Amino acid sequence: MIPPIASKFVAGESAAGALDHARQMNEDGVAVILNLLGEHYHERGPADEDADAYIQLVEDIASSDLDACVSVKPSQIGLDVGDDVFVENYRRIAAAADDHGVFLWCDMEDHETTDVTLDAFEELAREFGGGMGLCVQANLKRTPDDLERLADVPGKIRLVKGAYDEPASIAHKKKSKIDEVYKELLAYLFREYEGGIAVGSHDPEMIDYARELSAEYDRDYEIQMLMGVREDAQRELAAEGIEVWQYAPYGGKWFSYFYRRVRERKENALFALRAVVGI
Ligand SMILES: Cc1cc2nc3c(=O)[nH]c(=O)nc-3n(C[C@H](O)[C@H](O)[C@H](O)COP(=O)(O)OP(=O)(O)OC[C@H]3O[C@@H](n4cnc5c(N)ncnc54)[C@H](O)[C@@H]3O)c2cc1C
Repeated sequence: MIPPIASKFVAGESAAGALDHARQMNEDGVAVILNLLGEHYHERGPADEDADAYIQLVEDIASSDLDACVSVKPSQIGLDVGDDVFVENYRRIAAAADDHGVFLWCDMEDHETTDVTLDAFEELAREFGGGMGLCVQANLKRTPDDLERLADVPGKIRLVKGAYDEPASIAHKKKSKIDEVYKELLAYLFREYEGGIAVGSHDPEMIDYARELSAEYDRDYEIQMLMGVREDAQRELAAEGIEVWQYAPYGGKWFSYFYRRVRERKENALFALRAVVGI
């Protein structure tokens, strides 16, 4: 069982628990992106198993009345085993998502995976139409070119700052520079990109900027935030009428994800410490 301390960030160990969490968030007007925890499988067995679990999840979402969708990680569905294994599993999940009308996101991992992830997304998004989205990272210097390439690919883009510690030769390292580029890319999306725009950030400055751009270009957008992070803001933005999606991970492999959340921010570490010592 997931200890209460981790359940702030993780929506349960099972799909049933994750779907219950989605139902609760939906009651507050927040839609949910479900992600089964797991990454960097070096053997085909677990990659295929997680792809099967995503297909089952897509079916479970479709047979419910939930406002929910899924997000997969390339290395979870076979990228470290082989590009072909990844594309095969991604296609299987995309076909199920397309059949059942459930939106399918793909997370972006470190820079060594960017080309193969973009290629696979472009191929499948063109094949299946608009029900798929891809995450792109503002810290990578290549991203403006990648967005131009994706300009006429159907679907949605989730713009994030980037979670991976990349080499300075290919990535912006200073927070102020990443913030500046994030805004430039967001403006580019509102100006040029025809598909859906998702602001994958907890940063009030980026969210305010999206609001300005939306008014300027008269375009909708969605905000995506992680479970356990600024949840009050998630509910408030949803109450304002903005489309808010919460990215909620679940599954047995919760410990390393929880540990990452605790490490990345002092407040989260204090929260964990308080829970342990009971204050
Ligand atoms: C839905 C979603 C999906 C993501 N998918 C990917 C992915 O596929 N690939 C990838 O590389 N990265 C992904 N990320 C992570 C992303 O790249 C960033 O590392 C992460 O979101 C931190 O950047 P930020 O824009 O939220 O804010 P930061 O730059 O970390 O912080 C800016 C400001 O936001 C507020 N804030 C941030 N965190 C908190 C907090 N915990 N509590 C309270 N306030 C806070 C504070 O005001 C802070 O000053 C994803 C993020 C989200 C939200």
